[in-house]
Amino acid sequence: MNALLPKMDHHWLPFTNNRLFRQEPQIFARAEGVRYWTPEGREILDGSAGLFCCAAGHGRREIADAVHRQLMTLDYTPHFQRAANVSFEFAERLAGLLPEGIDRLFFGNSGSEAVDSAVKIVLAYHKARGQSQRTRFVSRNWAYHGVNMGGTSLAGMVNNRRDFGAVTFDAVHMRHTWTEEQRFTRGQPDTGADRADDLEDLCRLYGGETIAAVFIEPIAGSIGTIVPPKGYLEKIRAICDRYGIVLVFDEVITGFGRTGAAFAAQEFAVTPDVITMAKALTNGVIPMSAVAVKREMQAAVIDAAEGDRPELFHGYTYSAHPVACAAGLAALDIYRDEDLFGRGKALSGHFLDTVFGLRNLPQVVDLRGYGMLAGIQLKPGATPGAKGSIAQRRLFDAGLHVKATGDALIFAPALVAGTDDIDRMGDILRRILGDADL
Ligand code: PMP
Repeated sequence: MNALLPKMDHHWLPFTNNRLFRQEPQIFARAEGVRYWTPEGREILDGSAGLFCCAAGHGRREIADAVHRQLMTLDYTPHFQRAANVSFEFAERLAGLLPEGIDRLFFGNSGSEAVDSAVKIVLAYHKARGQSQRTRFVSRNWAYHGVNMGGTSLAGMVNNRRDFGAVTFDAVHMRHTWTEEQRFTRGQPDTGADRADDLEDLCRLYGGETIAAVFIEPIAGSIGTIVPPKGYLEKIRAICDRYGIVLVFDEVITGFGRTGAAFAAQEFAVTPDVITMAKALTNGVIPMSAVAVKREMQAAVIDAAEGDRPELFHGYTYSAHPVACAAGLAALDIYRDEDLFGRGKALSGHFLDTVFGLRNLPQVVDLRGYGMLAGIQLKPGATPGAKGSIAQRRLFDAGLHVKATGDALIFAPALVAGTDDIDRMGDILRRILGDADL
């Protein structure tokens, strides 16, 4: 019994094998910059920016101070028929970062809430313009859109959906875009754009006029980083335009500089109608998410309100929580003052060199990457889908935190990482993934 460890019976950890965890706990006690420390004081490099959220690194005093100030000024306000100035200020700042015209913001507390809110906003929009028959949602195999009921319905990751089918809505799925010939492609693959034709097929099958929205992660993150083939997002956009379908980019991972621009929509020069975001919205330190909606979509919904009734019967007790808004504003200040998105773009070359330097290791069967986001596909072991968690435990013991998913690792350090930090993370990856017996 380790005196530094707490009693672990009561907290049921999410997405965790709790039996295994209690045998071999992985506990963080402190964090600063791109480092965590265990209760014993052992240093663990953070190779996944927490869970792709701490873009500016851990322990940012500017955010802590802003949170403290806000707590002591206005700690809470409801946002049903009431508001606080800080939320308008935050929304305006976000509007300035978003693609032109996608500048109406609805706030929630998690990426999952943003996705579910986006589903309802899309339905309200179609109803407002007399298109209530648009009730079908399209997503993709391997997609992750959170774990609330909308996100579970849209999910393309089998384990996240399979046992919950009875209470999900009936979304239809396109194929993902990964193909065998893309193996070890750095950046956008040259082939695979034709998979956008799946959307055309679904429009023919169900009638394009019945489809409400298509949800796409511009880079599919949680499955292990699938970068969109050249021309793919453009084709999806064109088909949505042809059939009047709303295009939602779920940028919960790709937002806030991860790809090189503020949003992947800008990086890939394809403009959706709706963008969901969370994680780095507050540098990950206060739970918050947002749905950014095209101006004319919000106008249609507002104009359709009857009398003085709310136009959208949806919202959360903690929507636009003033403390989260203050944290978000402080995070955006850091991103601007440190030119963090530009820094991430500049660091990407070194980062991807490090990733693609792992190519010939015995455990590595594919590498994918764009910007500051990379997937390392591992040779499957005896139990398919378990190699990632075996590797992430070994990496933790060797001093590196990375997120595992199935037989893959998602490597995505904070945008403030130094090249020496990336090198050290690369050394640990090379050592552990170089073990043929892993
Ligand atoms: N959408 C995407 C694309 C995500 O990657 C995630 C989280 N990894 C979510 C939604 C859900 O976010 P949360 O865990 O904050 O609910």
